[in-house]
Amino acid sequence: MTVDTQDRKNIRSADMDLWIKQRIKQEQIEKYMQNDRDFIDEDLIFKALKKNVKPDPVRIRDILQKSLTITMLDPDETAALINVTDPELLSEMRDVAYTIKKKVYDNRIVTFAPLYMGNYCVNNCAYCGFRTHNTGMKRKMLTLEQVKKETEVLAGEIGHKRLIVVYGEHPRTDIDYMCDTIKAIYSVKVKTKNSWNSIRRVNVNAAPLSIEDLRRLKECGIGTYQVFQETYHRETYEQVHPRDTLKGHYAWRLYCMHRAMEAGIDDVGIGVLFGLYDWRFEVLALLLHSQDLEKRFGVGPHTISFPRLEPAADAPFVQETKYKVSDDDFKKLITIIRLSVPHTGMIVTARESAQMRRDVITMGCTQTDASTRIGIGAYSDRLNQQEQEKQQFLLGDTRELDDVIREFAEMGYITSFCTAGYRCGRTGECIMDLLKTGAEGKFCKLNAVLTFREWLDDFASSETKAAGEKVIKKEIEEVRSSIPTVFPTLMEYYERTRKGERDLYF
Ligand code: SAM
Ligand code: SF4
Repeated sequence: MTVDTQDRKNIRSADMDLWIKQRIKQEQIEKYMQNDRDFIDEDLIFKALKKNVKPDPVRIRDILQKSLTITMLDPDETAALINVTDPELLSEMRDVAYTIKKKVYDNRIVTFAPLYMGNYCVNNCAYCGFRTHNTGMKRKMLTLEQVKKETEVLAGEIGHKRLIVVYGEHPRTDIDYMCDTIKAIYSVKVKTKNSWNSIRRVNVNAAPLSIEDLRRLKECGIGTYQVFQETYHRETYEQVHPRDTLKGHYAWRLYCMHRAMEAGIDDVGIGVLFGLYDWRFEVLALLLHSQDLEKRFGVGPHTISFPRLEPAADAPFVQETKYKVSDDDFKKLITIIRLSVPHTGMIVTARESAQMRRDVITMGCTQTDASTRIGIGAYSDRLNQQEQEKQQFLLGDTRELDDVIREFAEMGYITSFCTAGYRCGRTGECIMDLLKTGAEGKFCKLNAVLTFREWLDDFASSETKAAGEKVIKKEIEEVRSSIPTVFPTLMEYYERTRKGERDLYF
């Protein structure tokens, strides 16, 4: 069903070489460096980890108090948390992480789906099924018609309103293709049981781009631009991303969020592929990245992601790594990220099992995917088992959105499909200020109620609807008592939504 475009031999190798050569713009790295150094100071990280061993419980509790003021921690404080081993203190840390999440994000969970556009890639990452050396992988990319077909299923049958579109790095799927496919997604409007639906926020996970290309993405109306550094540890980075590949350029990747900010995209998502190197180092590096963005642009990352390495076709590195992160360490690192960068959104994906996702939602995660398919064209061709097997890596939880939302509702969480923020200019520094003061929560609560109402009426099974009604009733009561001035307008919008109007927001 996808364009089976043979393989990269169709592009002359001279053209490919030229394309690769023109990608990295050295001046768009150097302009952000200070004294020829980047902001990942490995010495500082190792020293902080060493200096803060066996932290005093009194100090840990002081650090937790600081987190509760929704202030970013410093590397020493974060290193101290990393070094905590006492079960009682760890449990206190989890409690505070949950309190912070409640304070900043209340009981909202945002859901989305990934849409893989193609598996062409010029890189050779040792852990990824899309790597160029994996000759067993049939290469394809979606046509614009197929993108629309996938969107129809995602928005029309499943009920998603947010996507993250995922691209390999290849001339076939370069910035022109990205812009065309994003516009194709936004153009789709589908009928639902009671009204209509569309994708209202397209986030992007792609290779690092130049400032010029990022400006074009911004013009397409993207939400968050997401690029994971994979590992901030230089030696490991070089080991898993061969030097002679585009991705082998550590600094080009490291500064892509600086370029994004300069291009006007102020919702940026950073992340680490946990399992490549020591998680303790990576957590401190994520903090340094967040600090540098905040220092220079007044705003830290909109989201932090923490994929864990999963088995992938022709990627033996995954089995060989000595840094595999255990479940306990995974939960600990999520708790610490919530405490260290308290205002940031945190994304857990379907790579994790259903149980792990349940656990980490109570430790600070704010977003997750559902009904996930990562085969190319796998939403509109859902039964094609072969397709499912030829994906980038293996998934841990493939439950449908309806099941995931029901479970959240039974846990007392409201699933928010709110996409108002970036459309009302509540992005970047503005949203971070609102999050830190708790004001954004008010908009979010109202928009969560309205969008959840839409979803319950358009897509929910009877069982999920029953669970959802309880949650929505409680939310409405909370608005009535906590922001009574807005309550009448909320109820007006709510009734109009019930009658079939869509996309009303604050
Ligand atoms: N090609 C772009 C890049 O590398 O940044 C974006 C797409 S890539 C498919 C998205 C992310 O998938 C990568 O950043 C990496 O963290 C993750 N990934 C790759 N292989 C993985 C594996 N075996 N297990 C878990 N996550 C993986
Ligand atoms: Fe390509 Fe990204 Fe996979 Fe690396 S992780 S091989 S860059 S798709």
